[in-house]
Amino acid sequence: MSDFDGLRALVTGGASGIGRATAELLAERGARVAVLDLDPSSVEKPLTGHRADVTDDTSVREAVAAAATDLGGLDVLVNNAGIGARGTVEDNDDEEWRHVFDVNVLGMVRAARAALPHLRASAHAAIVNTCSVAATAGLPQRALYSATKGAVCSLTLAMAADHVREGIRVNCVNPGTVDTPWVARLLDAAPDPAAERAALRARQPTGRLVTAAEVAAAIAYLASPLSGATTGTALAVDGGIQGL
Ligand code: NAD
Repeated sequence: MSDFDGLRALVTGGASGIGRATAELLAERGARVAVLDLDPSSVEKPLTGHRADVTDDTSVREAVAAAATDLGGLDVLVNNAGIGARGTVEDNDDEEWRHVFDVNVLGMVRAARAALPHLRASAHAAIVNTCSVAATAGLPQRALYSATKGAVCSLTLAMAADHVREGIRVNCVNPGTVDTPWVARLLDAAPDPAAERAALRARQPTGRLVTAAEVAAAIAYLASPLSGATTGTALAVDGGIQGL
């Protein structure tokens, strides 16, 4: 029997990139998995898709309740939905700051609030938040995005402390630059996408981008009883970009 058999997991932002790779990996290993996404139309069996916008508390509550009903409860919340933002503090106005915080930080708070009553009833409850190296790396042109991910890392620690005695573990992953549709869109928007891609690869100690499957494997570990003694940690999946 695998450590994932019988686990009931909900992955936000699970229709693309890291979330999709995570939902598929958890399902392959024997978990039952639901996806919450703005556009779940591409989600295929055995995954089930639930349409919701993490900036809308009602739609999050309804999607989490529907997923918990479908799965017969919830053991795992992968809080992954997120968006990027480029620029210095002079480039993004207040409205952009509020919107990106609304998606990247409050979106995780809303999903956690809706999931916690279900997680309390689980014998193997875990929340995994998708954070980023941006939380601690001091990246140029990423003031707003980095601030949201710094908040996610702090939120992870605080939630781990609040819920450890209820048997709910809370951890996060800190990916480096991951080859996902989002990064492909950013590169395609550059004046010379091929040169931009080569420069990005050259900045990685490993000479390549991180894959979504590699981040999914780290999330799956933190979501499963395999990491039963681990809470309040940030697991880097960044090709060594911060440590080397
Ligand atoms: P992606 O764009 O490929 O996938 C993001 C998914 O989230 C999409 O399916 C999208 O529909 C969904 N989503 C966005 N806004 C939403 C909302 N308001 N409500 C519900 N769903 C919403 O992106 P990705 O690269 O897989 O990123 C996933 C997470 O990983 C994000 O939190 C991102 O900050 C983080 N991350 C990505 C990288 C990277 O290099 N790609 C690096 C570090 C961290």
